[in-house]
Amino acid sequence: MDKIKRCLLGNNVRYDGRHKLDHYLKNAFDKFVNWVPVCPEVECGLGVPREAMHLVGASESPKLVTENSDIDYTEKMLKWAKEKLEQLEKEKLCGFIFKNNSPSCGLNRVLSKNGIGIFAKEFSSYFKLMPVEDEDRLRDEGIRESFIKDIYIFKKKH
Ligand code: SF4
Repeated sequence: MDKIKRCLLGNNVRYDGRHKLDHYLKNAFDKFVNWVPVCPEVECGLGVPREAMHLVGASESPKLVTENSDIDYTEKMLKWAKEKLEQLEKEKLCGFIFKNNSPSCGLNRVLSKNGIGIFAKEFSSYFKLMPVEDEDRLRDEGIRESFIKDIYIFKKKH
């Protein structure tokens, strides 16, 4: 079973009430996986629509803060993530696709060159061996094939 960010599957969960349905990604993976959508910002209790957020501070321990009113949701997100990751451990996950450029879900280059979204960071350190990828990188055929291979290898071993 594979997980994916909800906005990529067409759920209207983004801060502006929209989605980021990625037809290309969905079509490329539909025949290989069962999608199970996850949206950290909505599931941790922030509404739709909501104020856009960004990461601030040091890239090793950034804060998740609203862009205009400066509300810090870091603790809320981390608390939710801890419980969610324990739940996800009970499921048969084989891989996870993250939405790029998100302060919660971005896997690469959020805030800084090595920056990573708050949930993506928690996920990656909890499931250290699970294949994870950034949706944008999966447009590259080589990266996509290698990710699918990794998913199958992971599935065989676990
Ligand atoms: S990027 Fe992540 S937190 Fe933002 S809407 Fe998509 S799934 Fe939710």
